[in-house]
Amino acid sequence: MIESMGLKADLHMHTNFSDGELSPNELLTLCVRKGLSIISITDHDSVSAFPDAVAQGKKIGLEVITGVELSASLDDKDIHILGYFVNYENKRLQEYLEFFRIERVKRAERIVTKLNALNIPLKFESVMERAGIGSVGRPHIASALLDQGFIKTYHEAFDRYIGNSGPAYEKKFQLSPEEAIQLISSSGGLSFLAHPGRFTSEEVIQHLIKKGLDGIEVIHPSHTPAHSAHYRGIVGEYFLLESGGSDFHGGKKSDGVTLGEYFIDGGKVEMMKNRLFSQQLSK
Ligand code: AMP
Ligand code: ZN
Ligand code: FE
Ligand code: FE
Repeated sequence: MIESMGLKADLHMHTNFSDGELSPNELLTLCVRKGLSIISITDHDSVSAFPDAVAQGKKIGLEVITGVELSASLDDKDIHILGYFVNYENKRLQEYLEFFRIERVKRAERIVTKLNALNIPLKFESVMERAGIGSVGRPHIASALLDQGFIKTYHEAFDRYIGNSGPAYEKKFQLSPEEAIQLISSSGGLSFLAHPGRFTSEEVIQHLIKKGLDGIEVIHPSHTPAHSAHYRGIVGEYFLLESGGSDFHGGKKSDGVTLGEYFIDGGKVEMMKNRLFSQQLSK
C-alpha cells in the first residue's frame, strides 16, 4: 500500500489502436510529462497496445496496467465496462475483441450508407482511412465528416447525424453487461463500470454489482463533484473498488480534457491488486 500512495494514477485513456489520436509511445511520454505515475490504456475493443506499452512504460518509469473498454447494453442503454489487469494473451478475449472490431467495421458501413441517403457523400474508405489501425467508431466518422467539410465542428456530427438519437445512428454489436463482466473475469481482470454519471441509473448499478462488478469509475471528466461523491458512497457501501481517469483521446476528441487533471491515488491501485490477489487465491 505505502509505496504507491501519493502517486497519480489515470486509469482511462485511448490510443490510436481505438479512437485516440496518439500512438501508445506518444501517449506514455505525455503521461510522464503531466506527472502521472500509473496509467491504464483502455482502448475500445482492443488490447493491441500490449505488451509493448508495458515495456515502454518500464523504460520511462511509468507503471502501465493492461486495460480494455467494452461496450455493453442493457434495456437499450449503453453501458461501458472497463477491464483492468486483463491477460491480453487470453485467446478467448482476443477472439471476442476481433469479432467486435469486425462488427464495428460493418456498423460504420451502415452509418455511411445512412449518411449517403441524407445527401452527404461521405466515402466509407475515407472513414477506414481515418481509423487506420484503430477499432473504427463514431469519432472516426465525425473526424472524416469534419476533414471533408461536411460539418463545421466535430460536435455537429453527433448533434445532427450520428448521436444516439440521430438519423444516421446505428447500433454496434453489444454484449450484456453480465457477459462483459464474465469475459473480463475469465481473462484474469477486474471489471469497472465506466463513467456512470453519463448514462447509468442506481438500479442498473445494483444489477451490475449482483453480476460481479468489481468497482466503479468515480473520477471522470463527465462527473460533477456531486457525481463523484455519490459514486464513492456506493463504492463504500458495497465494498467495491474505486477507479478514475481522464478518458483522454487526444486532439478534438478530448474536448478540452487535459491529461494529468483526472486521477486517483496510487493507493487505490494497490487495493485493486490486493483484490485480484485474493480472488486468485480463492479460485
Ligand atoms: P462508438 O463506440 O463508435 O459508439 O463511439 C462512441 C464514442 O463516441 C464515445 O466514446 C465518445 O467519444 C463519442 N461520442 C458519443 N456520443 C457523443 C456526443 N454526443 N458528442 C461527442 N462525442 C460523442
Ligand atoms: Zn473512445
Ligand atoms: Fe466510454
Ligand atoms: Fe473511454
